[in-house]
This record gives sequence, C-alpha cells and structure tokens, in this order.
Amino acid sequence: MYAFDYLRPDRIEDASALLAEHPEASLLAGGQTMLPVLRARLAAPSHVISLGGIAALKGVTLADERLVIGAAQTHAQVASDPQVLALLPSVAALAGGIGDVQVRHRGTIGGSVANNDPAACYPAALLALGARIITTQRVIEADAFFTGMFATALKAGEIITAVSFPRCDRAHYEKFRNPASRFALVGVCVASLPEGSRIAVTGAGFGVFRWHAGEACLDAGGTGNDLADVPLDADCFTGDLHGSADYRMHMTRIIAARAFAALGR
Ligand SMILES: Cc1cc2nc3c(=O)[nH]c(=O)nc-3n(C[C@H](O)[C@H](O)[C@H](O)COP(=O)(O)OP(=O)(O)OC[C@H]3O[C@@H](n4cnc5c(N)ncnc54)[C@H](O)[C@@H]3O)c2cc1C
Repeated sequence: MYAFDYLRPDRIEDASALLAEHPEASLLAGGQTMLPVLRARLAAPSHVISLGGIAALKGVTLADERLVIGAAQTHAQVASDPQVLALLPSVAALAGGIGDVQVRHRGTIGGSVANNDPAACYPAALLALGARIITTQRVIEADAFFTGMFATALKAGEIITAVSFPRCDRAHYEKFRNPASRFALVGVCVASLPEGSRIAVTGAGFGVFRWHAGEACLDAGGTGNDLADVPLDADCFTGDLHGSADYRMHMTRIIAARAFAALGR
C-alpha cells in the first residue's frame, strides 16, 4: 500500500470540498473493493476520504412512492430493512445474496454502484427497476449511469448520496453465482413495471445491459420458456476462465427463465 492521508468528514458538503481540494483523492465506503486495490498498489491516491462518518448517507426513506436508500447503507442493512423487505423485496433478497457475511456488513450500495464491477449484482436491479442514482450534483437514470466495465457516468468530484427505486413487488433477481466469490457468473433481474417488462443482465460481459428483445417477448405474452428462442446480442458477452461467452449466453436464457418463473406470472 502506498502512503496516503486519511480524512473522515462528517458532512457531505465537507466531503465534496475535500474532493475539490485534493483532486488525486479517492473515496472510501465499505472498502471491500477499495482496500484490496490499495493493498495491491493498483492505486496511489494522495488522500483517502472516508464516507463512513456521514450520517446523511445512511437510512431508507419513502418519498413520492419511491424508496430512497442512502449510499452508505450496507448490503446487510438493505437486506434486513423493513421498508425494503415490504416494498422492494427483490432488492432485499439481492442484497442478502451478495458475497459473505463480512462483505455484506461492510460493503455499501453506493460503493457497489460507483464501482460498477461487471459481475456485481446491484447494477442489474437498478437497470431492471428503473432506479435513479442521486449524487451531490444531479439525478442520473440507471439507463444512463452504467457506461462500461468499472465505468459510470459519475464525474470527478461527484459523490453518490442515495439510490431511489420505484416500489415494486413484481421483480426478481436470479444469480448463477461463482461458488468462490459469490459474484454473478450470470445474474438476471426481471421486473414487471406499469410501463412494461424490463430485463437486465450482469456478469455476462463487459458490463450490465438490458435484454430488449427478451422484454418485448414478455410484453407480447411470452413466458420464461419462450425466452429460449429470443435473440441475444453476442457482442454483449465475454468469456474468461470461469466460462466461455457461449456458455454465458446459454446460462442467461436459463437464469432469465428462472427469474421470470419466480414472478409467478
Ligand atoms: C469476497 C467478495 C465477494 C463479493 N461478492 C459480491 C457479490 O456476490 N455481488 C456483488 O454485487 N458484489 C460483491 N462484492 C463486492 C461488494 O459488493 C462491495 O460492496 C463493492 O465492491 C464495493 O462497495 P464498498 O462499499 O465496499 O465500496 P469501496 O470499496 O469503499 O469503494 C468502491 C469504489 O466506489 C467508490 N465509492 C464508494 N462510495 C462512493 C460514493 N458514495 N460515491 C461515489 N463513489 C463512491 C470508491 O471511491 C471506490 O472507487 C464482493 C466483494 C468481495 C471482497
């Protein structure tokens, strides 16, 4: 680990000011990605600014029929939150299936979304549910937020303060998990929203993406089994030591069918 100065503000405004003052600084949330990166000397920030002392980044509120989850809520807190369990059960279940006990008690929704690991679970739920990412500067629709592998629409100095979801009990995230890390080898979130079906796929390629042809199939009355014949864009899939691109395409259809079946439609 390279040397850095550690800062721990207790207000969002102070964190933003510190970021502006130290352009080579990095934010630290749960540290589940950041600390291994620092340990492996893959980054050399001048300062590490912890978000852990900022109370305003915590909590869950209901506003205008949307559930607003603070960026610093850990996966374990999301999984056990009474409002999330009641109004967004698919997201509670997703959070409860992330990593292991330690990862769930340290890792945060804001850190996961900002990091946008191509095998992370949350991005699929955000995309399928039409979530909004609230930052210190603006509100970004999930469709415009995830821009590629470990890449997002966040600008320098921008901090995620919360993620807002429409309440929805007609969604399900299904994961075919890597047995070692529990990251998604393929993960699919299917949501039935008033405006139509949405299907988002994670773990299969360079980043999360929507399966528009699959959505059209479901909206035309198709079932999970019908998804087996719906085209997938081969350019969205990649292979690695865990599985080839063809394998991931095959698994996407199976996992999507399971996610759809879980909706009980
Ligand atoms: C063993 C293991 C297994 C895992 N399994 C899974 C899994 O099954 N599914 C899954 O989805 N994830 C999994 N993860 C990842 C985990 O979910 C972490 O929560 C995630 O990597 C990052 O969240 P964090 O809060 O720890 O962020 P950090 O590691 O602290 O930060 C990650 C990045 O986000 C930035 N950042 C953090 N917070 C903000 C913010 N509010 N605004 C802007 N930028 C911010 C940081 O600067 C950094 O670049 C696993 C991790 C480990 C170590």
